[in-house]
Amino acid sequence: MFGKILIANRGEIALRILRACREMGIKTVVVHSEADAEAQYVRLADESVCIGPAASSASYLNIPAIISAAEVTDAEAIHPGYGFLSENADFAERVEQSGFNFIGPRAETIRLMGDKVSAKIAMKKAGLPVVPGIDSALPADAKEITRMAREIGYPIIIKAAGGGGGRGMRVVHTEAALINAANTTRAEAKAAFNNPMIYMEKYLERPRHIEIQVLADKHKNAVYLGDRDCSMQRRHQKIIEEAPAPLLNPRARIKSGERCAEACRKMGYVGAGTFEFLYEGGEFYFIEMNTRLQVEHPVTEMITGLDLVQLQIRVAAGEKLSFRQKDVVLKGHSIECRINAEDAYKFTPSPGRITSLHMPGGPGIRVDSHLYHGYTVPPHYDSLIGKIISYGATRDQAIKRLSIALSEVAIEGINTNIALHQDLLRDAAFLRGGTSIHYLEEKLAKQVNAE
Ligand code: ADP
Repeated sequence: MFGKILIANRGEIALRILRACREMGIKTVVVHSEADAEAQYVRLADESVCIGPAASSASYLNIPAIISAAEVTDAEAIHPGYGFLSENADFAERVEQSGFNFIGPRAETIRLMGDKVSAKIAMKKAGLPVVPGIDSALPADAKEITRMAREIGYPIIIKAAGGGGGRGMRVVHTEAALINAANTTRAEAKAAFNNPMIYMEKYLERPRHIEIQVLADKHKNAVYLGDRDCSMQRRHQKIIEEAPAPLLNPRARIKSGERCAEACRKMGYVGAGTFEFLYEGGEFYFIEMNTRLQVEHPVTEMITGLDLVQLQIRVAAGEKLSFRQKDVVLKGHSIECRINAEDAYKFTPSPGRITSLHMPGGPGIRVDSHLYHGYTVPPHYDSLIGKIISYGATRDQAIKRLSIALSEVAIEGINTNIALHQDLLRDAAFLRGGTSIHYLEEKLAKQVNAE
């Protein structure tokens, strides 16, 4: 096992990884920007290194600075968390070439899955159903693009092959709008992801977002750890996630899980990963794979009793999985609310100093957050300031516990989206389960119209 791990991330996930390491008796190094020098997890770490100014490009995305920090502190492995460099194949390669272990899959796998076009082709080959579309990048020729779109049938969605974080996507309903949309998406893709490649697939009208968690070791053992429903989204960003996904077709669910685990064995996948699907009419359609830990990993931990971060570390160190598929038992139900520092209904970011803080507790409540009384939420990063996760024997109990927990939270000094979560946990369609990825935006639009 590693003696020391460097955590190349910030916020709640840096703290989450730190806790996993401490429990395993592994020493920790946290790298941080100047803006995060006061974070509590920086003080809890055995060592910390300031790697640059607030701007992510100069700190959390600064590969040479992170590698130097690992060198001066003698770390053996680097955990990238999620976001930032977690799906950057060049970073994974540099980490390994510099003599450290990258806690994640091989650079080659990250590269394959980071290109959504090649990922779709590879997964189709591995036997996973994919969203109907054209399995190649779009050409420059407008006539050819028009022909392809007709073949798929409107509405279609144009997506950046290198896209992520819900950006670089455009829905097209009519041929008249097609070429303009393709050009704009291409230009955006080039600017945002430094990769102008775009592709096109059928735009599914009322799908759910269902994903399957996998875990694989370096010895070709792979398991799937159930599914999650992440359909409650705004602007393609998840805000509530739950496990298991309610009301799924039981046969399609098992078949998809098995195929994901099999795909991992075939491609020599190592570590934790997530296969993302759109689910419509009782069928799964692969959209992409995330080759890292996900924000919503705790709901899977709650229903499996496993610690995904510790397992990531174990497989990165070369350990064999200590359990098999038949040992994976899913029990109860878990729901996570992402708490953002933003106005609950206008969504304007709300960084600033927390003047008063009270977090909830009680049976079945887990809080993953780096906040503390007096902490200042910096304006430079993502607005996620924590996650409140509930566990219950049933979905109903998980919802009740989460509602009570949210009613106990008191965060003063900044705005948060807690009121929106409370609304959603009372929403009749959410209570029934199985809402589509458009549900939240439609609900918000209705509220605006009513005002
Ligand atoms: P990212 O990597 O940016 O998260 P994804 O490919 O995972 O992009 O898509 C994010 C979200 O966009 C999905 O959860 C879904 O809400 C929506 N989406 C993506 N592809 C389609 C599609 N073919 N039809 C309808 N919605 C889609």
